[in-house]
Amino acid sequence: MGGGNGQKARMAREKNLEKQKAAKGSQLESNKKAMTIQCKVCMQTFICTTSEVKCREHAEAKHPKSDVSACFPHLNNKTGEMNL
Ligand SMILES: [Zn+2]
Repeated sequence: MGGGNGQKARMAREKNLEKQKAAKGSQLESNKKAMTIQCKVCMQTFICTTSEVKCREHAEAKHPKSDVSACFPHLNNKTGEMNL
């Protein structure tokens, strides 16, 4: 058990991850127009396909003292449809 092989495998995996990240980055680039969801508290924008769960995650992480509907009023308006 030298451990050298394991390290090599891990480095290869990390390289692959970097490649995937780069691919995702260029995809984000083309989606920039669709940043139609905005947090009303910090004005951060989100892609229109951002799910309610992600919005709630943002609100809880960034604005634990604010209600999620204060950050994303649109979550209040919907009646169950638009569940992506
Ligand atoms: Zn925010």
